[in-house]
Amino acid sequence: MNKITNHLPTKELQALDAAHHMHPFTAGAELAAKGARVITKAKGVFLTDSEGNEILDGMSGLWCVSIGYGREELANVAAQQMTQLPYYNTFFQTTHVPAIALSARLAELAPGDLNHVFFAGSGSEANDTNIRLVRHYWSAKGKPSKKVIISRKNAYHGSTMGGASLGGMKPMHEQGGLPIPDITHIDQPHWYEEGGNKTPEEFGLERARQLEAKIKELGEDKVAAFIAEPIQGAGGIVIPPTTYWPEIQRICDKYEILLIADEVICGFGRTGNWFGCQSLNIRPHIMTVAKGLSSGYVPIAASIVCDEVAKVIDEAGDFNHGYTFSGHPVACAVSLENLRIIEEEKILENVRDVTAPYLAKKWATLADHPLVGEARSFGMLATIALTPDKKTRAQFASDTGDVGLRCRERCFQNNLVMRHVGDRMIIAPPLVITTDEIDTLVARAIKSLDETYAGLQADGMLTAA
Ligand SMILES: *Cc1c(COP(=O)(O)O)cnc(C)c1O
Repeated sequence: MNKITNHLPTKELQALDAAHHMHPFTAGAELAAKGARVITKAKGVFLTDSEGNEILDGMSGLWCVSIGYGREELANVAAQQMTQLPYYNTFFQTTHVPAIALSARLAELAPGDLNHVFFAGSGSEANDTNIRLVRHYWSAKGKPSKKVIISRKNAYHGSTMGGASLGGMKPMHEQGGLPIPDITHIDQPHWYEEGGNKTPEEFGLERARQLEAKIKELGEDKVAAFIAEPIQGAGGIVIPPTTYWPEIQRICDKYEILLIADEVICGFGRTGNWFGCQSLNIRPHIMTVAKGLSSGYVPIAASIVCDEVAKVIDEAGDFNHGYTFSGHPVACAVSLENLRIIEEEKILENVRDVTAPYLAKKWATLADHPLVGEARSFGMLATIALTPDKKTRAQFASDTGDVGLRCRERCFQNNLVMRHVGDRMIIAPPLVITTDEIDTLVARAIKSLDETYAGLQADGMLTAA
């Protein structure tokens, strides 16, 4: 064992965890019986667990640790800020330097006239803010009937009542009486699973035009906004057909509705530009940012708002909304340092010119594996679909997710964090991953796929639904 022996034995940690810690998106009783994996430290792209295993983190934590683990500059900035001013609020006509500096920096980085920043503590909160913002905006403009927000099935926009309602995750809606009123969902541009015999281009147009149909069905005077992730993340890294976003943009331009781009995953370099909107040519009125804003070192999020919306809100009197931790000084200071590192170390340029093309080339070779129906990537987002029949893109006869879960378990055993969404595997590694580390990642993925395939064969599970 190495240095990480300065804690209770794993079994005791697991027992305490099971007794007292309720985990997000987890079947508690099942985990308690099995014991959670205990992560004790991390450096660069590697995690270390309580047994001393070194695990390549193909998911950047939860899509957030863009600059990698263990950057002392961020720790130092946090310590300095805590010493100088650990907390003050931005209510009641006060402000502080970190919030001023970060909002100005975000206005500089954000495209177009997205010049105004409302801070939150999480992506979910920022999306709740967006619901309040767009409805209040239309109300202030004398159009209070424009309340409905259109989103997409299988979208992810967070886990608060508002965020989960905007999201299109059925298992989430089934618990707690969601969605809240005046939120509705159209189909997603998921060609591989839902495109049938159409070309991706035809299918992309068709799915985008559902937005126009929905606006007409509800009436333009009822619709406040459309919200979407430039590339769906938690839904399984759904890279839309090239025809999709230009058509969505056309429709948003034509009708009087606001476009909200949820950049919580795509923002801050994951697609090789500062924002996914720039990679996909989208012109939103509001962007949601979180995760990569601080590289996950501290919780922070924001809504970045265009001139027109901010002006109407500002002139309408008090906006009766805010969080105790809106613009937390330590979180703002750490985020500024994170953005400085991304810029000065040319991390975006490196993703765009070196590592993303390298990952794309390596990742594409996975399509040759007998278990893989498609292998795609966009920037530092990559996905493979597992299938019993490559030609027909068939689903497995087993329950959706059973095969994906088996594959994830194999990955874990092989010291790779790769996530499963149904029977689709996804990665979003730290943006600082090197080409050598990409080789390691892909080698571990292939080994895990081989083992998954052998296991499915042995258990007679290679049958199509
Ligand atoms: C993670 C995520 C959120 C929610 O962010 P939290 O910080 O978990 O509340 C919202 N939108 C997208 C696209 C996300 O990936």
